[in-house]
Amino acid sequence: MDIDKVVRQHLEMEQFFSGFALKGKGISPEPQRQENNHVPTVRCPAESEVEGMADAEKAAELERIAEEVHQCRKCPLGSLRTNSVPGEGSPNARIMFVGEGPGADEDAQGRPFVGRAGQLLDKVIKACGLKRSEVFIGNILKCRPPENRDPRADEIINCLSYLQRQIEIINPEIIVALGAHAARTLLNTTKPIGQLRGQFHEYYSGIGRPPIKLMATYHTAYLLRNYSQENRRRVWEDMKKVLTELGLSIPEHSTG
Ligand code: URA
Repeated sequence: MDIDKVVRQHLEMEQFFSGFALKGKGISPEPQRQENNHVPTVRCPAESEVEGMADAEKAAELERIAEEVHQCRKCPLGSLRTNSVPGEGSPNARIMFVGEGPGADEDAQGRPFVGRAGQLLDKVIKACGLKRSEVFIGNILKCRPPENRDPRADEIINCLSYLQRQIEIINPEIIVALGAHAARTLLNTTKPIGQLRGQFHEYYSGIGRPPIKLMATYHTAYLLRNYSQENRRRVWEDMKKVLTELGLSIPEHSTG
């Protein structure tokens, strides 16, 4: 074993995944949303239309989905929320991160991954040499479950079509499923995250469309709770595979 290399990797990971006291960094709360009872009729674009969609059309279609989410009352979570959290990011994102569902901070702001787990996700994205605005960040559930409990099957069934449509429109090259709920839902499996992470899977976004590569990794909230060097190394290894698959260079300061 090359001890120097192991030590260097360790130090580099420490540098990137430690010290997540990023209090409010770069994240400004959005004004509270005004909801009304008008449910817009939303047309779902055909696959061939999505292929040829220009940026502005994609953005408009994503906005229509967000508007539907804001109006959604398909399950009881809709009446418990402060804000729904449709997701945000680039309509042309090459990478789409998918988490489980909003927590208290996300519910308060109407934006995904803005709490502590989000600040760690920001660090991961930055360590990859990317900007938050270049990726898309979404969730399986668009409304916060009470006390951040696990999503229920009926909630997932009611909510999933919003995410499926977002994936269809964005058509990312890679989906990064954060944690067991996202990975299991998108891969339709009950396997543990420990078995799913670290390798590419295939997500089918529609008949006749090529599968999208999906990398499962640990949720950043799990990482915060289990902040071991080994877990951080695993997430970083998973992200390095994603960067390599996209033909992106692994930032100099992060390689070992
Ligand atoms: N955890 C999630 O799964 N999603 C968020 O948006 C925030 C925390």
